Amino acid sequence: MKKYFILLVISILTLSCHENKQSQQLEENSNTYLEESHSYAQPNNAVITHLDLDINVNFETHVISGTATYDIENSDSNQIILDSKYLEIENVTQNGEQTEFDLGDFDESLGQPLTVAIQEDTKQIAITYSTTAQTEALQWLTAQQTADKTHPFLFTQGQAILTRTWIPIQDSPQIRITYDATVKVPQELMAVMSAENPKEKNENGVYQFKMEQPIPAYLIALAVGNIEYKAISERTGVYAEKSMLNKVHEEFSDMEKMVVAAENLYGDYDWDQFDVIVLPPSFPFGGMENPRLTFATPTVIAGDKSLTSLVAHELAHSWSGNLVTNATWNDFWLNEGFTVYFEIRIMEALYGKDRANMLALIGRQDLEDELEALKESPNDTKLKLDLKGRNPDDGMNSIAYDKGYLFLRTLEEKEGRDNMDAFLKSYFKKNAFSTTNTEDFITYLNENLLDKNNITFNTEEWIYQPGVPENAAIIESDAFSNVEKTLQEFLKTNEIEVTKTENWTPQEWVHFVRNFPTDISVAQMQQLDDTFNLTDSTNSYITMVWYEQSILNGYHGNNVDTKIAEFLNTVGRRWYVTTLFSAFAKAERIEEAKEIYKTARGNYHSVTANTVDEMLGIE
Ligand SMILES: [Zn+2]
Repeated sequence: MKKYFILLVISILTLSCHENKQSQQLEENSNTYLEESHSYAQPNNAVITHLDLDINVNFETHVISGTATYDIENSDSNQIILDSKYLEIENVTQNGEQTEFDLGDFDESLGQPLTVAIQEDTKQIAITYSTTAQTEALQWLTAQQTADKTHPFLFTQGQAILTRTWIPIQDSPQIRITYDATVKVPQELMAVMSAENPKEKNENGVYQFKMEQPIPAYLIALAVGNIEYKAISERTGVYAEKSMLNKVHEEFSDMEKMVVAAENLYGDYDWDQFDVIVLPPSFPFGGMENPRLTFATPTVIAGDKSLTSLVAHELAHSWSGNLVTNATWNDFWLNEGFTVYFEIRIMEALYGKDRANMLALIGRQDLEDELEALKESPNDTKLKLDLKGRNPDDGMNSIAYDKGYLFLRTLEEKEGRDNMDAFLKSYFKKNAFSTTNTEDFITYLNENLLDKNNITFNTEEWIYQPGVPENAAIIESDAFSNVEKTLQEFLKTNEIEVTKTENWTPQEWVHFVRNFPTDISVAQMQQLDDTFNLTDSTNSYITMVWYEQSILNGYHGNNVDTKIAEFLNTVGRRWYVTTLFSAFAKAERIEEAKEIYKTARGNYHSVTANTVDEMLGIE
């Protein structure tokens, strides 16, 4: 280990002053890499430190091909192991000379270890490769699947372990690298990455990228399309297709304010630029926190900024996740629980306590639903997971998010907000540009918050036991209590005073619809739909929960079945899609679901399709 340490110090000297702070952090935090079950890499022997990617993006063959050149640090090893899945490896060199390589046995979730022969003095390896049709990270969209319908589109999704399906790489969250890239795309398209980005299209279709802050492989990202940029402030802005650009710009116009609020809470934004690209609707997540350039679903463009907590969430990841990264996927709650907590604090700073508490309460209900759904597998309701032998994607349910949030909120109430904030600020600073695991977090928490203030807290129960401990914070919202009252009155009297609902936010509508009892009648749903136009709501979150209730309760009015099928054929956001397919399953309408899925599946990213396949029992 000593040798690795010395090499690291040398590499610091070669970096520009800009990175000094980060490198010092790295040095302080550098330690032996932990055993990890989701990567074949053995970084304690030989590890990559920098990637220079030179690729061509071919929209006709749906192939990315080129060369990945790595700077490496070698502790006397005669081989370096990378992760690779569904890649064609053509050629490998070390220090510029041909070298031997071997692709090992294929594992369904991990892919294959790519072992490259190196020598003691090897500083660089280069791998010439191409992607294949089975790649799981890439989604190639036809023009028809985009907003403008004029040009094709491509985006990548790396988390959790998919980057290895488009770049051979040491694909562990513990291994951080800087990168440069040269990306060649068709002339009429523009490429952007999780890096310093172009703001305009250029004439030759060749784009250069630089990412000077070290990041784990799952945060390397690429999008290619006929997109344009519009700035919000000097360091924030949006990318979108032409027909979406102004809408997106308007919706996210508070982005700079969000960055300022976040910095006031937990310290400087360390990534220079914070932009968001709104992708076509098949993007499988709400958002993905690719550094400098968050990827987002268009389903949050509601026209009234009501769903922009998503941007606060992805921004919060600039600290929790991107700056301080979970060491293994078993520690995923360190990324997500902290991010939800931070997101809700940003929303509170911008829009007040009421809105923040509504968000927190929606999460609380999600948590109850998830606990119910996982009652046969209580181990999956622990914060610290054991995902050995499983695809980490399996463990990524809402426990990490919502139970993680509740843990931190409970801790805040016990400690007081000032202590909590000082603690979190120091935690982010201490671990910046590094990784941490659950055990290190507990030690840090004890030393810097609990012991210091002489407080006992059931941390271990929260983290290592299933379910929710009894001391969980109680979250209340007057607005939601009123919504519940209005719903109860309606159920009793079949009458609803429209004036009471006039100023409801979409969150209040979501709460109203989600809380329908199982015996709500079809006539009552018809009445609500006729009065409030719920089937045709322009807010995707409201329509999603309304469709769910329609499926569960056998409501077929106002053409809702056609609307549901259309929605599932357009939107690929996994949360929405799986909520609706699981409603079909609960309502024993699985044949209908399969019929819709026949055409919808082609629009989904593999992340969404794999989950639905499993849900519907499709091989
Ligand atoms: Zn997140």
